[in-house]
Amino acid sequence: MRILLVGAGLSGAVIGRRLAEAGHSCRIIDSRSHIGGNCYTERDAETGIMMHVYGPHIFHTDDEEVWNYVNGFTDFMPFQNRVKATAQGGVYSLPINLLTINQFFGKTLHPDEARAFIAEKADSSITEPRNFEEQALRLVGRELYEAFFKGYTEKQWGCSPTELPASILKRLPLRFNYDDNYFFHRFQGIPRDGYTPMFDAILDHPNISVELNTAYTPEMAAEADHVFWSGPLDGYFSYELGHLGYRTLDFERFTYGGDYQGCAVMNYGDRDVPYTRVTEHKHFSPWESHEGSVCHREYSRAAEPGDIPYYPIRLVTEKALLEKYIARAEATKGVTFVGRLGTYRYLDMDVTIREALDTAEAFLAGNDSNEAPPAFLKSPR
Ligand SMILES: Cc1cc2nc3c(=O)[nH]c(=O)nc-3n(C[C@H](O)[C@H](O)[C@H](O)COP(=O)(O)OP(=O)(O)OC[C@H]3O[C@@H](n4cnc5c(N)ncnc54)[C@H](O)[C@@H]3O)c2cc1C
Repeated sequence: MRILLVGAGLSGAVIGRRLAEAGHSCRIIDSRSHIGGNCYTERDAETGIMMHVYGPHIFHTDDEEVWNYVNGFTDFMPFQNRVKATAQGGVYSLPINLLTINQFFGKTLHPDEARAFIAEKADSSITEPRNFEEQALRLVGRELYEAFFKGYTEKQWGCSPTELPASILKRLPLRFNYDDNYFFHRFQGIPRDGYTPMFDAILDHPNISVELNTAYTPEMAAEADHVFWSGPLDGYFSYELGHLGYRTLDFERFTYGGDYQGCAVMNYGDRDVPYTRVTEHKHFSPWESHEGSVCHREYSRAAEPGDIPYYPIRLVTEKALLEKYIARAEATKGVTFVGRLGTYRYLDMDVTIREALDTAEAFLAGNDSNEAPPAFLKSPR
């Protein structure tokens, strides 16, 4: 079959590879000038440092098959994300752990003492939290909430934490030990030479052709037997019903002659600091050695038409509009909507790959039994 895949990010590349291996002819297009979607990395022309162009990307997963899959295409180096936060005049360890608690409150508490201490700080009068703020107060109390959650969340989401659902803070965001590894997953790493060579390898198959600087047109679909769409769901329908809400990011680049902050990611919790975090890219490749440094200050704001959509805002209004687009998509024949934009969900890389592999397998199985592929293999709801 002639398959058109819109987007050369993880979704398009992984589905394309599997279908190419099964003998289908895969045409992958991307409106950007490069492969890799938001995982794209490149060396900074001035400093030679590997840059995570669309924000820091650390691969972490418990899915051994996915881990083996990516390691089949590139060499990963061990990497654990150890984030720091500047707030209220101090520098602290994140996620909030025993070191954070002891430093923040000027204590020398042992784990059980810290647990009891935080239980006293937590607002036990809140039994049914109605929003993010109440949930945070219930779990960690006002001081930690104001230092590490309130300002950061306001900047990240552009609204008061009282307007966000409590479900965002599902689990207790506290550790009563000194574990400061940001992720819990068994497998964690970053490709030695950045993510782009991994995409080169995935896309390197005789049945795959890649066209960059190429935006989708309906004529392309007419030439294909099936389309996998990893662009924005509303974009497929030319935003006819309105735009699904997203947050976008602005990255402000600056260089420094040495080590600027001593770690890869520094969050800024205070509301009067306009950016949410600073990433210092050379710390994502600690196996390399660089004299100079290049950093990004990261600012979050509402996406306007034409901006890169980063984080879906899934509040009540967006969900209502999403339902309408889902109905449109389900009534559309010959297109499967995939990935973070096609299904309007935040997806980590490992989940994106898992869903892409499953989508490709389901497509191949459906082909064998003459079943038409559905609009969504993973529901956007
Ligand atoms: C700031 C940030 C940090 C992240 N950090 C991590 C992390 O540390 N760890 C982790 O596991 N995950 C992380 N992620 C998630 C990761 O980026 C995604 O899992 C991954 O990029 C999803 O791949 P995708 O192919 O679905 O989408 P994308 O990478 O967005 O690819 C979609 C592609 O489609 C193209 N496209 C769109 N519309 C059209 C069109 N009309 N015509 C042609 N092409 C089109 C786009 O140009 C894009 O290249 C992060 C995400 C963000 C936003």
